Amino acid sequence: MSADPIKIAVMGASGRMGRMNLAAAMDGGPGVVLCGACDRPGAAAVGQDAGRLIGREAAGVAVGDDPAPVVAGADAVIDFTTPQATVEHARLCAQAGAALIVGTTGLGAADEEALTRAARHVAVVHAANMSAGVTLLRALVERVARALDADFDIEVVEMHHRHKVDAPSGTALALGRAAAKGRGVDHDAVKDAGRDGHTGARRAGDIGYAVLRGGDVVGEHTVVFAGPGERIELTHKAADRAIFAAGALRAARWAAAARPGLYSMEDVLGLSAA
Ligand code: NAD
Repeated sequence: MSADPIKIAVMGASGRMGRMNLAAAMDGGPGVVLCGACDRPGAAAVGQDAGRLIGREAAGVAVGDDPAPVVAGADAVIDFTTPQATVEHARLCAQAGAALIVGTTGLGAADEEALTRAARHVAVVHAANMSAGVTLLRALVERVARALDADFDIEVVEMHHRHKVDAPSGTALALGRAAAKGRGVDHDAVKDAGRDGHTGARRAGDIGYAVLRGGDVVGEHTVVFAGPGERIELTHKAADRAIFAAGALRAARWAAAARPGLYSMEDVLGLSAA
């Protein structure tokens, strides 16, 4: 006797990540089924079959532009859209009892508060980077920062494709926060993301950010620990967006059975208790 498959809905279905998430849900095996897809009103994909949208056979799921019925039919909702849309989807998931997987980056404090509110009612997994590799890198950065003394300057360098609209990337900030946590300092008090012109010497203890944009780079992050006479660099390079979709689907499977709460990919991968 097998359990019912987990019903997955994909928001932002026609986006770069939305298409990956559709493919992951369709390829997810007997344990999951794509039950809904949604994009913004006016998007070209609205009304199209989700399978056809990604160059496959029809999936029998039309891309809608009203999120409420899409969310209502789902056990778990995968959302890689915009902060504004994610806040609305969080409210709908809390109402409908659907778990929510948020990959959207660039969320402000008020947006994060909306996720916290939703997490009182349903499981919400929020990660600026859903890849297993980056989740491990974050844990590693925290350990290294804890082990090294304050003589090591910490810099985060990231590069993404030319279409990315937020900077530094959510992943870069998550890595910087991990370093700050390891060092036992308040990230926002030491964050230096805007060097330009006559900046003066580097302030001791700052965590600096450098941002590159160009081409079709999926996402590259390096955390540099630069000390006197030596330097440690920890790097992750994403070559295929499918890694984020695989992580999001893993999170959806996990969250569909989890209690209400706000979770990270560390929780999904079982690293939190370690
Ligand atoms: P994109 O612009 O290609 O896709 C966004 C999609 O959301 C578009 O199809 C757009 O029409 C849709 N959308 C906008 N408003 C909507 C609404 N109200 N309702 C439904 N859909 C709506 O962007 P992308 O490259 O796919 O990235 C999307 C987000 O995911 C960004 O914040 C990006 O930084 C983030 N991202 C996160 C990860 C991760 O692992 N967490 C990985 C890659 C990208």
